[in-house]
Amino acid sequence: VNPIQKLAEYFSRFPGIGPRQSMRFVYFLLSRDKAYLDELASLIQDIRNQISICTSCFRHFTKNKSENGACNICANTGRDGTKLLVVARDADFESIEKTKSYDGLYFVLGSTIPILEPEPEKVVRLNELLQRIDKEKNITEIIIAMSANPEGENTEDVLREVLRDIALHRTLTITRLGRGLSTGVELEYSDSDTLKNALTGRKE
Ligand SMILES: [Zn+2]
Repeated sequence: VNPIQKLAEYFSRFPGIGPRQSMRFVYFLLSRDKAYLDELASLIQDIRNQISICTSCFRHFTKNKSENGACNICANTGRDGTKLLVVARDADFESIEKTKSYDGLYFVLGSTIPILEPEPEKVVRLNELLQRIDKEKNITEIIIAMSANPEGENTEDVLREVLRDIALHRTLTITRLGRGLSTGVELEYSDSDTLKNALTGRKE
């Protein structure tokens, strides 16, 4: 296989990228100079070497020596440890954090749960979430922050189901983002003001 086709094949596995776009990426790269390509190649290596997954919230973050495997947010004692906001992906976390109107902690599931998925715990970090809630007794509110689409709603349903037992044994309120999120628009593409309103207007 020639390198053009091979690289195009790699790009075609990116989310939302089809074969035609992946070829355009390759030809774009061919039009750049050596410095650009070198920097891109080294950045790709850096994300493996310098980024790790937080042992507590499971988001990706730039490695730091001080904290034991926890990201700067989980290690920040100034955050409100009574609230845990659950998102599907890192990009959703970024969007919420950008609103600057949430001061609690996070948990990244890793994905949404497909409808009728028989083993959701194999698709997302359900067990890890339960372990964390069990370990952190300070948590009194779980905020489910999913996109307003069928898979987001399904994910919320499954979460509520698995959290029900814990909620029986201790004070645990389960809330969701309030109105204002447009149906079908991914959380990561919602603007900051909309998200801010959805956060402050959250409901059980
Ligand atoms: Zn973390």
